[in-house]
Amino acid sequence: MDTRFDVELISVTKRYGPTLAVDTISLRIPRATYCCLLGPSGCGKTTTLRMIAGHEAVTDGDILIHGQNVSDLPPIKRGTAMMFQSYALFPHMSCLDNVAFSLKMRGVAKQERHNRAREYLALVHMADFATRLPAQLSGGQQQRIALARALINRPRVLLLDEPLSALDPFLRVKVREELKRLQRELAITFIHVTHSQDEAMALADLMVVMENGHIRQSAPPRDVFERPVSPFIARFIGSHNVLRSNQGPVAVRADRCRLGTPQDGPHVNGPYVNGKVTAVEYQGSMVRVALLTEAGDEVSALVPDQTFYRKPTEPGDPATLVWSEQDTHALSGEDTHPLSEQDTHALMES
Ligand code: ATP
Repeated sequence: MDTRFDVELISVTKRYGPTLAVDTISLRIPRATYCCLLGPSGCGKTTTLRMIAGHEAVTDGDILIHGQNVSDLPPIKRGTAMMFQSYALFPHMSCLDNVAFSLKMRGVAKQERHNRAREYLALVHMADFATRLPAQLSGGQQQRIALARALINRPRVLLLDEPLSALDPFLRVKVREELKRLQRELAITFIHVTHSQDEAMALADLMVVMENGHIRQSAPPRDVFERPVSPFIARFIGSHNVLRSNQGPVAVRADRCRLGTPQDGPHVNGPYVNGKVTAVEYQGSMVRVALLTEAGDEVSALVPDQTFYRKPTEPGDPATLVWSEQDTHALSGEDTHPLSEQDTHALMES
């Protein structure tokens, strides 16, 4: 039994009639990892999460949790807990009773389950709200109660389906920090499905990008950002330009590009493309300038605001995108495989 991994997916496939929702995916998630499943709508993220939880049966393949094959076990016997997007709190029960509910179902005596529930309310900083009903809480507070309720069974793996999507942008960042803190403190694995690249970058130790039922890249976020394996990944994670070259597609980060001529600045005689400005977006410390190149590619430069306003440009202006050869990154266009031994080692060390 290999207990270095909290979760292992071995050639897992899910079919719904003629639809192949998940196609022979393999993945190893080391112990106590914050793993984000990311990808465009319909790529198979939720199906993967639901198969790990046991809410969907696998069509083929195996799921191991902490070395044990759980493919045929019901959800309650897997050592997982799931937190749903809607939180699904019982409206007529106090926060304390909501959190204690599953212990009640297991026949734990009232005093003990309330003590445990208080402990978990404190963990999510909601100790003062024990007697309130869910309707008397804000969205962020309800979310914390739902978290406490999922964690009270001390799962080895917590599964979160778009947990931040119902929150406003400010609260989303606050709760995101909270999730990371909890995952660290409890030292368990979180598997978090999200649409948001920013969310995945901020939270994940291991970022798993899916497309069309396949895992296209699984690696720490910085590796995915710095070394996207394919044009799809480079475009999907954003802030990259995908360009054609004689050697095949290459990516260059938008923040490593600037506007100018190949003759000036530090990139003398470096690569460049000519185009026309199509949009200018102020983003605070940076300004994003989008260009349509003469070859018909959409590219952009992320320019520090001070640099931009020294020589501003507008949609319709001709412009040249300039970068340094050493910042280009060749893209293979092929799928990657699950974590290499080296990646696994690096994650376990961290
Ligand atoms: P989203 O980000 O939109 O939630 P997702 O990546 O989570 O998408 P899934 O919900 O896993 O995607 O769906 C993967 C594929 O499986 C889609 O093509 C979807 O239509 C299909 N699918 C999901 N559930 C079912 C079902 N119960 N019956 C039939 N097809 C399904």
